[in-house]
Amino acid sequence: MCRATSTLPPVLAARALEMAPSGTASDLDPHLVCVLGEHAGPGHWAHACEIEGVRDREVWARWTDERAPYTVLVRPDCPGESPDGAEGCAMFEGHPGPCTWELDDPEGDALQKLFALGRDTGSVLGLILALHELDPPAP
Ligand SMILES: [Zn+2]
Ligand SMILES: [Zn+2]
Repeated sequence: MCRATSTLPPVLAARALEMAPSGTASDLDPHLVCVLGEHAGPGHWAHACEIEGVRDREVWARWTDERAPYTVLVRPDCPGESPDGAEGCAMFEGHPGPCTWELDDPEGDALQKLFALGRDTGSVLGLILALHELDPPAP
């Protein structure tokens, strides 16, 4: 895995929490770790925080080797699953490189738990929040 690290600046942390309206500060981890496999491009992606009650999308942070974290955004989860359906992908839809379950890394175990958690928290409330997410208030 890439495993590049960075720190989410306070202004982006606040923005990430706005995107997860039911989120609290404890949902957010400012210590960013790139979840991608080894990648040639400069762009890193890390999970920033959960959107409580929403199981199919999460808040992600982006940065590069030259540039500190510059944006947070909501991305749908990657629908990728292992051929036997036992393992899912903890990355976002359209991510570069292999899925989580294709990476041989102990860190993947933690991501798998995250995925399993996300799969169990779906609810009508989540759907409502997801719809709200599609039409966010003007900044
Ligand atoms: Zn990376
Ligand atoms: Zn994937």
